[in-house]
Amino acid sequence: MKVYGPDFFKDFHCIGSECRDNCCRMGWDIEIDDATYRYYRSLDCGLCGHISDDGSEHYIRQQDGQCPFLDENGLCSVVLKYGEEHISEICTEHPRFYRWFGDYKEAGTGLCCEESVRLWLSHAGSIGFCEWQTDEAPDDLDFDPVLLKSVLGARAELIGLFQNSALTLSQKLKALLIFGLNTQQFTENDAAEGFDELADIFADTQRVKELIGELGGGTDVKDRLKACGQVIGVFEELDYLKDVFPSALDGIKGRLGEITDSTEAFGRAFPEVEDQLCAVAVYNIFRYLPECVYGEQFLPIAAGCILNVWFLKLWGTALWLDGKYSSDAMADAVREYSKEIEYSDNTAELWECVYTDSRLCADNIRLISEV
Ligand code: SF4
Repeated sequence: MKVYGPDFFKDFHCIGSECRDNCCRMGWDIEIDDATYRYYRSLDCGLCGHISDDGSEHYIRQQDGQCPFLDENGLCSVVLKYGEEHISEICTEHPRFYRWFGDYKEAGTGLCCEESVRLWLSHAGSIGFCEWQTDEAPDDLDFDPVLLKSVLGARAELIGLFQNSALTLSQKLKALLIFGLNTQQFTENDAAEGFDELADIFADTQRVKELIGELGGGTDVKDRLKACGQVIGVFEELDYLKDVFPSALDGIKGRLGEITDSTEAFGRAFPEVEDQLCAVAVYNIFRYLPECVYGEQFLPIAAGCILNVWFLKLWGTALWLDGKYSSDAMADAVREYSKEIEYSDNTAELWECVYTDSRLCADNIRLISEV
């Protein structure tokens, strides 16, 4: 099978006890695959006492917000006692993700993990992708290969756009919104053709600039602030696992005007942040655009990406105003956003809000792209 992913995919390895944010402490339910569960049962050693068994799926029950198998040194006691081959598949693979299309597969690493964030951000500005072969058998999911080809072509242009230094971050976000709005015109029959046409248009930087000009709208500071306040209101209604994200959200809301007035100065003080935010956008586009092949709409995916970049810019600016900005603090913000928004039901909720909640209307998304 042909596999496609970021050049650094194979460089990923879990940094274990050196990780400041062990994923075994995130409070997630951890699924145990059948073979691993059967092995634990055969041991008759008490491991199964920590695993829920409803007859079909098995999950490790969290204890005080962390995996009960984690030892005092932050290491997995199952690995230490029984060997790495006996942890659940999800523990072995995390934070890698995959998507299958017959004899073609995509692979990447998720931004919920400290080491993965380091890899994505350290390649900011020049994230490359490559192919490799595995001996895995093709899967039998039903999909349209013509649509896949078109979606991947359009995705390549969008990834190029976010690594194109001739456009500002705000222009790139607006271009992504325009792309998303255009996909709303597609029908099931002409989606492949539509993606091909958009790919051609978005390959031309000058044409993209013209489209951004045609998007129009004012850049009134009050309108922008109002849009930011409304979108923050949507975030406030989501559910969060830990305190870090809600506390950042509160801090940003409490002085939204000061923060939105300071984003430019923050960008001047730390110009590398713009490339890093583009890397976050590249991650979102690489990971989620192919979902269109399986029926997902692209507009909410684009809006979700814009929200991610916008929120991180506000968060970075707030850290800077407080004298707490550092590259590690920014990386932590990227990871926390991923954990609480992307790796939770909140993404689905935000995608749904793009159609149902006027606070996430296209005009507000355009306005927050200007921050
Ligand atoms: S967050 Fe990443 S680096 Fe840290 S323990 Fe989990 S997989 Fe390893």
